[in-house]
This record gives sequence, structure tokens and C-alpha cells, in this order.
Amino acid sequence: MNLSTKILIGLALGIIAGLELGAEGAGFAKAWIGPLGTIFMNMIKMVIVPLVFSSLVIGVCSLGDIKKVGRIGVKTVAWYLGTTAFAIVIGLAIGTIMQPGAGLSMPVESAKVAAKSAPPIMKVIIDIFPTNPLQAMVKANMLQIIVFALFTGVGITAVGEKADYLKHTIDGLAEVSYKIVGMIMAVAPVGVFGLITPVVAANGPAVLLPLLKVVVAVYLSCLLHAVFVYGALLKFVGGTDVVKFFKGIAPASLMAFSSCSSGGTLPLTMSCAQKMGVSKEVSSFVLPLGATINMDGTAAYQGVCALFIAQLYGIELTGAQYFTIIVTGTLASIGTAGVPGAGFIMLTMILTSLGLPLEGSALIAGIDRILDMPRTSVNITGDATVAYLVDKSERANQQEPLY
Ligand code: ASP
Repeated sequence: MNLSTKILIGLALGIIAGLELGAEGAGFAKAWIGPLGTIFMNMIKMVIVPLVFSSLVIGVCSLGDIKKVGRIGVKTVAWYLGTTAFAIVIGLAIGTIMQPGAGLSMPVESAKVAAKSAPPIMKVIIDIFPTNPLQAMVKANMLQIIVFALFTGVGITAVGEKADYLKHTIDGLAEVSYKIVGMIMAVAPVGVFGLITPVVAANGPAVLLPLLKVVVAVYLSCLLHAVFVYGALLKFVGGTDVVKFFKGIAPASLMAFSSCSSGGTLPLTMSCAQKMGVSKEVSSFVLPLGATINMDGTAAYQGVCALFIAQLYGIELTGAQYFTIIVTGTLASIGTAGVPGAGFIMLTMILTSLGLPLEGSALIAGIDRILDMPRTSVNITGDATVAYLVDKSERANQQEPLY
């Protein structure tokens, strides 16, 4: 039995157990089943920093030239931003057609939600450059680790023979990290079971039913984006078998669905992409970057939810406001980490920029975990799609045979 099937079984058992336990058993699920998931996620997080750093350094060394790093960087960011903007448009379209907020009224006792203001763009750029690389690693700040790894890789290449020892050591670290990922993945089905059971127990039908329309709208937007946008890109730009691609990335997508963390899923996304033939140098650069800056599922969710809240209050949005959602949503996705719930914080930012009442998001807050699952799954599928496309175009550049 392959890993996807095993993870799928873990997921299905988790859903059954969660429904069985229900709201009364939610405390038990959180206290006694949840830890299986937490331990699994802790192990994954344990390996992220050494894995990303070492594989990226080795990736850059094997590219061998700084121009190529720049070229890959520009292509990657362009794909990421383009697909994200598309995802918001899909979310807005579904939100307009399905009208998830129409006919609902706000509960009087709504929790106050604090808005998060967008950090100035200059601060986002400055913060990418670490003053202390060890601190960046301690805090698992992915963008800073990526920058330091790029410099280290370029430095090793420039120094040449004298740095051979360092290069081999880092290469060894990368190999060991891959092995550790393999070991952790052996228990992924149990981890996924532990992650999903408490969520389903706490968010049973009673909680979800009144908001069913918004849940369906978010799931549908995510699904359409994955099938049509990634499907078309993979088929027409990547020239690949789309079903085979989705099957190959399935273990990572399922893990993202259960863990709601692109960052936490990263080691598995990397190993799935490499198994599908994406080169180590491209995947180790494009995927860590994507886990931090590319969030298509989150963008689609924001499109739906912004409309949901406008509809809830009977506010008609103008064309300019639609445009604001697309631009702020795309930019906001760059500076937000791939961790559970990050998209909700970004949503409050978008609501503020639109002048929509923040209290509306209290309804979303209650079911956000359920909405986080499909969006994180799409987020990592988008990262892998872009990695595939960039790798393919790099190979075409070098006239290397394609897989
Ligand atoms: N959980 C998402 C991720 O890790 C981010 C979000 O909350 O939308 O990609």
C-alpha cells in the first residue's frame, strides 16, 4: 500500500472518530488523540531548518552560476504572483455566484476581532535580510534562511577547492535530513489521524450547518483553482500528465489538509516533487520560497470571505473594491508564514483596507480551521506546480532531456 492510501485511511478514520466523539468528546479528542498529531508535527518541524538550509546551499552550488539563480528567482516569483491573483478572482466569482452571506444575520454577541494592519512593503523587504543567520534558524524564519543559504552557496562556489570540505559536510546534512523525513513519514497516517480527529469532533454538523454555504464556496473555489488553473498550466505549459501529477503530490496535499501548515508540509512537498522528477536544485529553492510567499488557496478563501462579510452586512462592493481585494490579497500573501490560521489574520487586513466591519469575521473565526484545510492543501499544490514548471523551463534552456 502506498503512502497516499495510508494517509487517506488515517484521514478517513480521523473523520469517523471525530464524528463519533462529537462535541461532548471534543475535550477527550484534544487531550488524548491530538498529541499524536502534535508529536508528528513537532518531528516534521524539527527537520525543516536543516533540510531547507542544506538542500538550498547544495542546490545553488550545483547551479554553479549566480545568473541562473536570478533567472529562476524571477520566473518563480512571477508564477507565484500570477497564480495567486487568479485564485482571488476565482474566489470572488464563486462568492458572487453562490452569495454565501445572503440571508444570514450577525449574532448580536459577536466576538471582537482585532485587525492586523499590513506591514509597510519596505519593512517586508528589509526583514528578508538577516542580521544574524543563527537567529534566523532558531526562529525558523524561512525567507531569512533562504537568503543566507543563497549567499553560502554562491560563496562556496566562488571559493572553489578550499570550500570542498564544507560543501561535502552540508551535502551530508542534506542527505541525513532527507533520511529523517523518510523515517517520520512512516508514521504520517497516525499523525494525520491525530491532527484531524479533534478538529472534526469540535466542528461537528451543528457548528457547520448554518455556515454551510461559505464552507462549500471555499472548498469549491479551491477545487476549481486546482483542477482548472493548475491542470491547464501543467498540461499546456508543463506538457505533463495532470492526473499523474496530482497523484504524485497527493501525500503532501493530504498532509497539508490535516496539518493546515504549508511550512510543516514542506519536507514532504519536496520529497514528492523530487520523486516526480523535479530537480533537487529547483525544488529546494522554489518550494521553501513557495511555502512562505505563495498561497493560492488562502487567496481564494479571502475572495470568498470578503464577499461573504459584505453580503452579511448588505454592503455592495464597487469595482474599485474588487480590485483592492485582488491587489491587497496578492501582496498580503507574500509576507505571511505558512502556519495554521495565518490566512485569517490576512483576511482582517483586507477587510480593513476595504472598510468592511471586522466583526463579520468573528463568524469565520469559529470555523476557520475547516476552511484552512483545503486552502493549505491548494497552497502546497500550487508550490509544487510552479516548481514543476520552472524546472521544466530550466531543462528546456539547457536542452536537457525531459523526464
Ligand atoms: N495555513 C495556511 C498555510 O500554511 C495559511 C493560511 O492560514 O491560509 O499555507
